[in-house]
Amino acid sequence: MDLHTLTIHQLHERLDRGEVTSVEATEAVFGRIDQVEGKVGAYITLNRTEAMVQAEAADQRRAAGDGGALCGIPLGLKDIVCTKGLKTTCGSKILESFVPPYDATVVKKLKDAGAVIIGKLSMDEFAMGSSNETCAFGTPKNPWDLAHICGGSSGGSAAALAADECIAAIGSDTGGSIRQPASHCGVVGMKPTYGRVSRYGLLAYASSLDQLGPMTKDVRDCTLMLQTMSGYDPRDSTSVNCPVPDYSAALTQGVKGLKVGVPKEYFGEGLDSEVEQAVRSGIRLLEEAGAEICQVSLPHTDYGVAAYYIIAPAEASSNLARYDGVRFGYRHQEAESLLDLYCKSRSGGFGSEVKRRIMIGTYALSSGYYDAYYKKALQVRTLIVQDFLEAFKQCDVLVSPVSPFPAWRIGEKIDDPLSMYLSDVLTIPSNLAGVPCMSVPCGFSGAGLPIGLQIQAAHFAEEKILQVAAVLENELGVVGKKPSLV
Ligand code: GLN
Repeated sequence: MDLHTLTIHQLHERLDRGEVTSVEATEAVFGRIDQVEGKVGAYITLNRTEAMVQAEAADQRRAAGDGGALCGIPLGLKDIVCTKGLKTTCGSKILESFVPPYDATVVKKLKDAGAVIIGKLSMDEFAMGSSNETCAFGTPKNPWDLAHICGGSSGGSAAALAADECIAAIGSDTGGSIRQPASHCGVVGMKPTYGRVSRYGLLAYASSLDQLGPMTKDVRDCTLMLQTMSGYDPRDSTSVNCPVPDYSAALTQGVKGLKVGVPKEYFGEGLDSEVEQAVRSGIRLLEEAGAEICQVSLPHTDYGVAAYYIIAPAEASSNLARYDGVRFGYRHQEAESLLDLYCKSRSGGFGSEVKRRIMIGTYALSSGYYDAYYKKALQVRTLIVQDFLEAFKQCDVLVSPVSPFPAWRIGEKIDDPLSMYLSDVLTIPSNLAGVPCMSVPCGFSGAGLPIGLQIQAAHFAEEKILQVAAVLENELGVVGKKPSLV
């Protein structure tokens, strides 16, 4: 058995039975990285030496009878979470040499659970993008077809999972960045409720939307990661102090009697027919498994993109003001004055998409335009929240596509920001509303590219999402399929 191909729970069982060690599993993952990383390009930084130390410590811990679900499991982390002593670039030249002095809360939780940190995964610069092409350190490829994007912004996480270059990963999702790459690479990805997982140590993009979440090879692994990542953190004022349920209990509940809403606006113009077919067959399976299917409406869905691409850049323009060339990261060497230092460091350190967002955000917040753009966008956001609240009076979960089309070719949209932004139409609303959501693999296009199905639920109803995902996983037999890379 190739250890790198295992899921968390499969590896955990073998570790528990003493059949393998974490050191062996970690070596197997690095072996796989040596074999395929040249083609895929999922990682920005590898943590080889330290990972082996962590693996040895995990083996000792397990031998002492203290090995939980994640103990000794090799994980990849999106390069957007601070890792003490390990470079954290956020996909940007401006942070190319930034080594954080502390761990993000989720990183600490994962380390405390005994996880092994394999390395930091590629992403769009500051998580701004839908194809991972804005990363300053190269574009990872989709393991299912290397000419295609792996999605973004957590593209490295999704590509690494599909290529078995880690056992599980974390991503962050501000407007779809966990679900969309998960959908394009045929893996599982969940954005929990806003406030469920601490954002302390997550490099901020748009703070009212950002949320960290698990990206995994199957649904059970998603519950294991979520269980460890979730919970109140006094260091994040938006983290919510409510109990964390036992997520794995949801996996065996089935969907009998569950009300599944199909939002008509998510099946509108521009939806690829193969995507629609795959998602609709998933819906049929849920019906056969006893779910009650009903049509619902989220009437303001179409305005989500416009509102998001004001709100997110507005918040980003403020969050990214801290990168001034003085305190950390890239500093231009030939500045003549302080202002010149700011200008040259920021001009040279940020890529063009990030600059575009900073300019849009600054414009939208400036006096005279604030009411017309930012305030309007917030009003639209309220309407979208109300859409969800209404919908969840009629059903338990919403089921839809994740991305309107399968992964496009690298280069196809990068010079057309508007068409890139529009591809987020089905993932953005859940961020604006703060509701939990997930992408679970549900089929393939004729060209062999994965298609994901999106499940959304009311705030803090992650368990209902997992119930549905587990049934789809069992019935569809799509989860766990692997591309042939070598
Ligand atoms: N594609 C969206 C953007 O560029 C979402 C990114 C994300 O979720 N981080 O903003």
